Amino acid sequence: MDGQPVIGRIHSLESFGTVDGPGIRFVTFLQGCPLRCRYCHNPDTWRQDAAVKYEWTPQQLLDEVLRYRSFIARGGVTLTGGEPLMQPAFCRQFFRLCRDAGLHTALDTAGSIANAETFSVLDYTDLVLLDIKALAADLCRKVCGSDGTSALRFLDEAEHRGVEVWIRHVVVPGLTDDDRLLDELVAFVRGYRVVSRIEWLPYHTMGVFKYASLGLPYPLEGVPSLAVERIREIRERYRNVFGER
Ligand code: SF4
Repeated sequence: MDGQPVIGRIHSLESFGTVDGPGIRFVTFLQGCPLRCRYCHNPDTWRQDAAVKYEWTPQQLLDEVLRYRSFIARGGVTLTGGEPLMQPAFCRQFFRLCRDAGLHTALDTAGSIANAETFSVLDYTDLVLLDIKALAADLCRKVCGSDGTSALRFLDEAEHRGVEVWIRHVVVPGLTDDDRLLDELVAFVRGYRVVSRIEWLPYHTMGVFKYASLGLPYPLEGVPSLAVERIREIRERYRNVFGER
């Protein structure tokens, strides 16, 4: 199924990531994303045809990763972006090599492409970090330009295969910061046996400068970062939701 090695278009690398999966991880940001989240802090990863730092085969990326092997031995590797599922063959081949090398594999995705090819990445994925933008189609469209159906199909596929999932959800003042919506999201994902955690991510304005440098208008102009107290409150409110898993 894997055939010839494909070339991955890689935006950037982070050799000591601590926020994208368990332990210390080698994080690879792939170029390209079909969504346009209003709070995206990586708009420079959007365009598939943009110039990239690295164009590597899966083996070349693994060779780079293995230079850090002792640091990530108890963590692993994470593919993120952008949307890594825009390069499914590369993700699949890279994760297969990582599995052979005994490395834990995490896929950080919005599940924005759901088809047989993207599902096949799950063959070699230990953990999915699935970003659910919003459950309601109209709100989801407002947040990211998509109705979110494919993210839920990707979650269904992970459930079907028994691949562990951590849900991620960005809380934005005036958009997704609503106790009723958060309750609904928690109730929904608790119905999946593979979901073992929800990570609540506070909206922040750290990406604003990137929009200016790309000559793009900032979609959430005037919206403040989520208050530290508020994200603390949300995390506390749902702290024990998956305690029993
Ligand atoms: S899915 Fe991620 S990279 Fe793509 S627009 Fe949304 S936040 Fe940005």
